[in-house]
Amino acid sequence: MTDASPWRRVLLKCSGEALMGEGAFGIDFAALDRIAGDIAEVRGLGVDVAVVVGGGNLFRGVRTAAKGMDRASADQMGMLATVMNGLALADALERRGAPAVAMSAIPMPTVCAAYTRRDAAAALAAGSVVISTAGTGNPFFTTDTAAALRAAELGCDLLAKGTQVDGVYSADPKTDPSATRFDRLSHDEVIARDLKVMDIAAIALTRENRIPVMVFDLHEAGGFAAALTGRGRSTTITD
Ligand code: UDP
Repeated sequence: MTDASPWRRVLLKCSGEALMGEGAFGIDFAALDRIAGDIAEVRGLGVDVAVVVGGGNLFRGVRTAAKGMDRASADQMGMLATVMNGLALADALERRGAPAVAMSAIPMPTVCAAYTRRDAAAALAAGSVVISTAGTGNPFFTTDTAAALRAAELGCDLLAKGTQVDGVYSADPKTDPSATRFDRLSHDEVIARDLKVMDIAAIALTRENRIPVMVFDLHEAGGFAAALTGRGRSTTITD
């Protein structure tokens, strides 16, 4: 907790898609800079920020495996995609004067630091934004599960999942006008209603470790700080 925020240490899950901006593939540098600005704003509130970045804007293992490629190899490519996004995000943060370090769960010492819990915790305590890339380092997982894992091991008191909409809805609000937004849900309700928030492994990990999940709109400039400080719309999943 800080004077400005009820949260002391937050794990932001930033999907690869968010980095595409209005595009259909790759990194949109205006979107990247805006998201870096939003992260720096939250860091400026005195909140420790760790980020797990996805890779869906560049590569998705499961889709490629469906075309015949070995799933484990395709997932390794997906994890490498998240490293590219993480390097771009760390660079965008550093360019605006916010200390940031990208760490990879797949060691590649000539590119960035290898992720270790100890180094990540030390960097967070020193005020750096820690960007955890390469997911869990293992195929058959997602970056949502990596986000839940990093939130648990780094002692985060919130997993903030940035999405395309301002919370969790009863149906997809983009296709179903009768969809309603939940203000609050329990982890069990998310699982029982099969709400598409995160995959089951990720939700189960946050439930087991009693980590609340806040789903908010990452496309809204300033939305991250607004959600954390209770000014913006979001859904909170907690027990
Ligand atoms: N991935 C993986 N293990 C992990 C995390 C990710 O194999 O622990 C791979 C997987 O192929 C996935 C890709 O990396 O499709 C990109 O991650 P994700 O789809 O979660 O990214 P997002 O949807 O958040 O952009």
